[in-house]
Amino acid sequence: MNYNERLMPCPFCGGKANMITTTNGSTHHGVSFTFGIECSECGTSLPWVHELRATLENGELKITKDERDKAVEEWNRRMQKKKSEEE
Ligand SMILES: [Zn+2]
Repeated sequence: MNYNERLMPCPFCGGKANMITTTNGSTHHGVSFTFGIECSECGTSLPWVHELRATLENGELKITKDERDKAVEEWNRRMQKKKSEEE
């Protein structure tokens, strides 16, 4: 299952959540992205961003920082909490 498929639907509108890139950057040694998670319908999003970094090492693309799992967990935890508050 890919990361977007693991995201719970939005508790406000039931819309599909997506990872969206907010900024990207590069240095001589690597590239980085910051990304957030946002509902594609109403725009509800996590109030903070996460980071993904990669570098080219020995001819291979190597991920040096990967917060995608963390972002999915945080989104789902928040959405679960929101849901249980309403029930
Ligand atoms: Zn929504």
